[in-house]
Amino acid sequence: MPEFVIEAPQVPTLPVSGSSAVFPVRRVYCIGRNYAAHAVEMGHDPDKEAPFFFQKNPNNLSISGSFPYPPKTENVHHEIELAVALKSGGRNIPVDSALDHVFGYAVALDMTRRDLQGEAKKAGRPWEVGKAFEDSAPITPLVPVASGAHPDHGAITLAVNGSVKQEGDLNQMIWKVPEMISYLSDFFELSAGDVILTGTPSGVGPVERGDRLEGRIDGFDPLNVKVV
Ligand code: MN
Repeated sequence: MPEFVIEAPQVPTLPVSGSSAVFPVRRVYCIGRNYAAHAVEMGHDPDKEAPFFFQKNPNNLSISGSFPYPPKTENVHHEIELAVALKSGGRNIPVDSALDHVFGYAVALDMTRRDLQGEAKKAGRPWEVGKAFEDSAPITPLVPVASGAHPDHGAITLAVNGSVKQEGDLNQMIWKVPEMISYLSDFFELSAGDVILTGTPSGVGPVERGDRLEGRIDGFDPLNVKVV
């Protein structure tokens, strides 16, 4: 261990279902507009676009179960997403071996300051103020692949105060998980500890303080988050 000139920040970690050991997070990638119906609701043609990615910070992931309404915004949206955690990586990973790099999966929310994201889009500016803020990625414990198959279909839903707002199926992803991993690895060197948020189905909308969010993906324990 080197001697640090300041106290070293802790490595962000995620709990792992069925284990007392935790998963160290290196990077967080998020894909945009990966469900056709969501691309349409955001005003885009889903057929014509190569995938694109943005990043959140590893310490934006939150397992606390509460989402503090962030400052400098009047319009924070929920986006329910399947999260993929990598146990290994590399460059130029072929699609047909991409799933070999997956450690496990989780249910996550890509919380978004939609007003700030919209201003950034209009001005051609980066999205960080809209996407990469504190506690912006509530997530469940990771479920290792060893305890189940790779999920490629099944309902994905988000309810606000018991009323379903987002409803889709994992099989509606435009870019499937192996394609996403392969595509990302052509641009970045992927590595153990990387987490990928795989996009959200249609029905995104605003949250208010006091709201109870319940994210569900078939085969996983739900993600329950209270907006505070
Ligand atoms: Mn998203």
